[in-house]
Amino acid sequence: MRPVVIAANWKMHTTPADAGELAVAIAGATRQPGVIRVICPPYLSLDAVRRAVADEGIEVGAQNVHHEASGAFTGEVSAAMLAGLATWVILGHSERRRDAGETDALVNRKLARALASGLRPIVCVGEQLADRDAGTAEAVVADQVRGCLAGLDAETLLAGGLVIAYEPVWAIGTGRTASGADAAAMSAAIRSVLAQVGSPALAEATPVLYGGSVTAANVGEFLIEPSIDGALVGGASLKPDEMAGIVARAAVTATARAVVDAASRPAGGGA
Ligand code: PEP
Repeated sequence: MRPVVIAANWKMHTTPADAGELAVAIAGATRQPGVIRVICPPYLSLDAVRRAVADEGIEVGAQNVHHEASGAFTGEVSAAMLAGLATWVILGHSERRRDAGETDALVNRKLARALASGLRPIVCVGEQLADRDAGTAEAVVADQVRGCLAGLDAETLLAGGLVIAYEPVWAIGTGRTASGADAAAMSAAIRSVLAQVGSPALAEATPVLYGGSVTAANVGEFLIEPSIDGALVGGASLKPDEMAGIVARAAVTATARAVVDAASRPAGGGA
């Protein structure tokens, strides 16, 4: 049974002075069973958020990490610097691909670094609107997944808890979303690449999240799809009420999965 994950990407919002308060409000609004909650604030707010949610079962992630261990990289942040502050990391977000020129090859190096450093990676992929209009969305995303995972073996990716976030670029911050059916089709396409380049076990175990203008009102359209395992939430993740609705809906899916999982175990629960 794959876990249900709701990850909050706060982007370049909050300061160390106000991030803890927001994290506490979100924690209080999202106490639901069975859902992995992750907050990814800006680097400078990581410590405030970590302290604020220390007893809340909320995990903390960074929004990026450098691919080298250390060196002459002015303004960058290494995996070692994140130790004790974050246990997750978002990689290859489309805003970094757009603004920092990140390529699949670079994301691949960041992914290797994250895995070697014990940071659980959320690798972002997603097509442009022109790709979807041209009918090439699945091919584009499949190429991104292949590029991001190149040379990494299935066991390492499984052990590192790889998560993929499917985020159509045209849906991020626009108020537009993919349909649940399109997102589910993309999730299936992603899993078939994971099976080819990794293993069937990797494909089965890897959570695939949907991201792109997710709100409490529309998250159900995605979470009703068995192949979608949660959401990467941007704008709405800054609003405790929205997060309350999103995580409450995610808990419904997590509970349903737990019931199916229990029913599929052999009677007697033998070891
Ligand atoms: C994101 O930042 O990953 C995202 C999906 O943003 P939004 O929810 O605002 O579209």
